Amino acid sequence: MNLNNIYTEIITEHSRSKHNRHHIENPTEVTNGINPSCGDELTLEIRVKDDIIEDASFVGDGCAISMASASIMIDLIKGKPVEEARELAKLFMDMIHGKVTDDEALEPLEDAIALKDISHMPARVKCAVLSWHTLEETQKKQLIPG
Ligand code: ZN
Repeated sequence: MNLNNIYTEIITEHSRSKHNRHHIENPTEVTNGINPSCGDELTLEIRVKDDIIEDASFVGDGCAISMASASIMIDLIKGKPVEEARELAKLFMDMIHGKVTDDEALEPLEDAIALKDISHMPARVKCAVLSWHTLEETQKKQLIPG
């Protein structure tokens, strides 16, 4: 099995998986994301406590890429400090936009590296970044005082 097949499998598994696709209890942030060009829609729910992402999930509907990307992202950011999640989102964006291609530099993204080839498919970029963009929007909201 070559690397591309492994990546395809990761994406397929995550797009079908429901383990991150539900509501969480007492979310501190609920943010909607929409990608009109494909019809992907999701709501990101996050519970932050003491600057740690204590729990996270999403609900919504969309294509396999958008759903897989959201599920992979949730796995990655859950339990992490908010600041680290912010850095991961930036790294993911840089990967999808082809700015960072070095495998070693991308290592912190773990399973999300499976989406690397999307950078060569412009039509799917918005699908892949939807959840990460929504995460960034969530963090922007938090920076604006009450
Ligand atoms: Zn899509």
